[in-house]
Amino acid sequence: MDFKIAVIPGDGIGPDIVEQAKLVLDKVGEKYNHTFKYESCLAGGAALDAVNEPLPQKTIDTCKKSDSVLLGAVGGPQWDHLSGDMRPEKALLGLRSALGLFANIRPAVMYKQLRDACPLKDSIIGDSGLDIVVVRELTGGIYFGQRGSQEGANGKEAYDTMLYSEAEVKRIAVAAFDIAMKRNKKVTSVDKANVLENSRLWRSVVCEVAKDYPEVELNHLYVDNAAMQLVINPKQFDVILTTNMFGDILSDEASMITGSIGMLPSASLGSSKLGMYEPIHGSAPDIAGQDKANPIATILSVAMMLRYSFNLEKEAKAIETAVEAVLEKGYRTGDIARGEEKAVGTKAMGKMIAELL
Ligand code: NAD
Repeated sequence: MDFKIAVIPGDGIGPDIVEQAKLVLDKVGEKYNHTFKYESCLAGGAALDAVNEPLPQKTIDTCKKSDSVLLGAVGGPQWDHLSGDMRPEKALLGLRSALGLFANIRPAVMYKQLRDACPLKDSIIGDSGLDIVVVRELTGGIYFGQRGSQEGANGKEAYDTMLYSEAEVKRIAVAAFDIAMKRNKKVTSVDKANVLENSRLWRSVVCEVAKDYPEVELNHLYVDNAAMQLVINPKQFDVILTTNMFGDILSDEASMITGSIGMLPSASLGSSKLGMYEPIHGSAPDIAGQDKANPIATILSVAMMLRYSFNLEKEAKAIETAVEAVLEKGYRTGDIARGEEKAVGTKAMGKMIAELL
């Protein structure tokens, strides 16, 4: 099959890691008889330098015409003085909203080979490692609600509004249950229904959606309890379904449990098959262009692309297995090396994963 992928290398280590992800995709294409056609696009600091705006319309148009989007990372100190709409990060929000990407999927997988990087005790993790997916609502809630500041009786006051419609909750809940059906069939919905009216609506809609998925076990946790449970009993989780703000916080907590930021992929999905796939880390300007970046998060992001946008489960699994095999052989980039392992650079890591496919 043929697939068109819009590729946004972005800034810092973005170009280094995206190159390796393309190498792996090309190998998948060769082995399983698919063709991946790439169209390179500008966004973030690279776009500011070239055309003086962080998200050119041409990039949005190319992404919309593609089957999927692969993004490295954007931002860096040279653009830190810019404000508001001119900031490189504006490109991310702009792309999510232009492409209607309302679901952020972040797996937090702890590989047994990287057990030492996990800050939790062996008695909590056990032998099998961890495998959790956080499904975070991405285009609604308090980050997008009405906000403002005003003079009040006690001086200046400010407010942000958390608003969700039934339709918004329903579509993210459906996304979470669909993912759970392909995994261990358990959804934990996280809210603050003991305090927030908005969370009570969230919970009732999630319960309605659950009726269409009788095989999936559903439970509910308040967000404060969920934050605790993630560190005292993370193995209870399969899919965590939550709002934009709670998901922002919990997905970072879940990812830190796994140990390395350089290992974690993400997907942002909408109601069509078009998704945006990117590592969770930033542009790491401190190691850009030095062959030091870990390309695994980006390589695992293209595995997610194959699974969620192209429905190529076998090919996705092949990439994940090749990543495990490289770790099993003891190869590590600097960020995940702990001593005796064989240290390799970005390019060598990408090449080895491609070869192990
Ligand atoms: P960062 O994730 O870029 O880096 C944090 C630390 O982790 C650094 O020491 C870095 O060297 C290391 N690191 C990150 N990814 C790595 C990898 N693949 N391999 C090895 N080491 C890695 O976060 P930051 O330093 O807070 O931000 C740097 C820039 O990235 C900022 O401009 C920020 O706005 C931007 N940013 C972009 C995104 C994105 O594009 N999605 C996300 C977060 C931050």
